Amino acid sequence: MRTKRSKYKRVFEHLFSFQEYKLFDLKETKNEVLVILKKVGPSKCPACGSDHTIIEETYTRVIRDLNLRQKTSNLQFEENKIQCSCGYRGIEYLDFVRPYSRCSKSLEEEISVCTTMMTLTDASLMWNLDWKTVKEIDKRSIQDKLVDLKTINPTIIGVDEIAYKKGHKYLTVVRDIPARKVIWIGFKRKTETLDAFFQELGPEKSLKIQICCMDMWDPYVASVRKNTNADIVFDKFHVIKKINEVLDKIRRRVFAQAEKETRKLMKHKRFLILHRRKNLTDEKDIESLEQLLKSNEPLYKAYVLKEEIADIFDDVNAESEIIRLEQWFQNVIDSGCEEFLPVVSMIRSYLYGIHNYFKHKLTNAGSEGFNNKINVIKRAAYGFVDVEYFKLKILQQCGGI
Ligand SMILES: [Zn+2]
Repeated sequence: MRTKRSKYKRVFEHLFSFQEYKLFDLKETKNEVLVILKKVGPSKCPACGSDHTIIEETYTRVIRDLNLRQKTSNLQFEENKIQCSCGYRGIEYLDFVRPYSRCSKSLEEEISVCTTMMTLTDASLMWNLDWKTVKEIDKRSIQDKLVDLKTINPTIIGVDEIAYKKGHKYLTVVRDIPARKVIWIGFKRKTETLDAFFQELGPEKSLKIQICCMDMWDPYVASVRKNTNADIVFDKFHVIKKINEVLDKIRRRVFAQAEKETRKLMKHKRFLILHRRKNLTDEKDIESLEQLLKSNEPLYKAYVLKEEIADIFDDVNAESEIIRLEQWFQNVIDSGCEEFLPVVSMIRSYLYGIHNYFKHKLTNAGSEGFNNKINVIKRAAYGFVDVEYFKLKILQQCGGI
């Protein structure tokens, strides 16, 4: 019996053995276990690691630890305020808890894992800690693991913006496209915002970036030109989106002017018009699309223009794409679809980046899954309360931390 008891004791002693502390006593109440630790080593300086320190003050500290079965577990220990010959003055180094934290490092680690899977509210309920404490623990834990730009050499990057606060404010997100990882996030979407990324990366590495994929956003263009020699590629989905916006505008106009019978025909057909023709597989859909287009000349013309340009972007030969795009500009003029003219002039003024798209065939499309993740993070409502936290959560969940 004696040997069994001492075996159990050894297990606990092992579980609560830290660098300078050992298990001294355990006290149990109805809902709580209090683990009392005893100092067995010297007080170390956190700045220089020296253990030749002068103790100024000693006080008792109690922190939360991982639950023991269903019971809340607290660690109680004596902590020293020290003075060191290196000039440091403050709390001694402890391996199991950070200075001023209310929770042990093990508990913090557990909480930061939980918050990747549940909301802060859920995590705070689970650990019976207040919401703010859980958030601060998670923030610090992510900050500790952030990827240092010094350790990576990106050559193909994507620059995106994310709207938050109902679209009034933006974050600039830089991704390493081949690695499919977010590597940097900055506030706002100005030239200076992206400049800060290149400054952090350093001029040497910035000049090694070969391709930068982005939307047609002048401040980003200016920054990439100033800091790199990269080819600027405009995302084809951005262009197609603009085209579809025009097509939809024409659809709405035609609908508003149509007779009652035609209107009936057009109802709930938006999807059919905006979708690529080659992706429609349902016979019924194809038939109803054809019927709709037959009865509407302006809509038919606009639809053909949309399909034409989408086909051009799917072409595999860059040279033929350039020629076909020029022809498409002419087709727009010939069609008389004036609504398309602003898009034509937009594409014309950003032609270099479209041609680079034909050359490299790169998009930010990896962002499909990325955008879903962002929405999940947004829904968990981090972003609206604390944008720094929102930024860290994106880096954590899309940066492969
Ligand atoms: Zn020191």
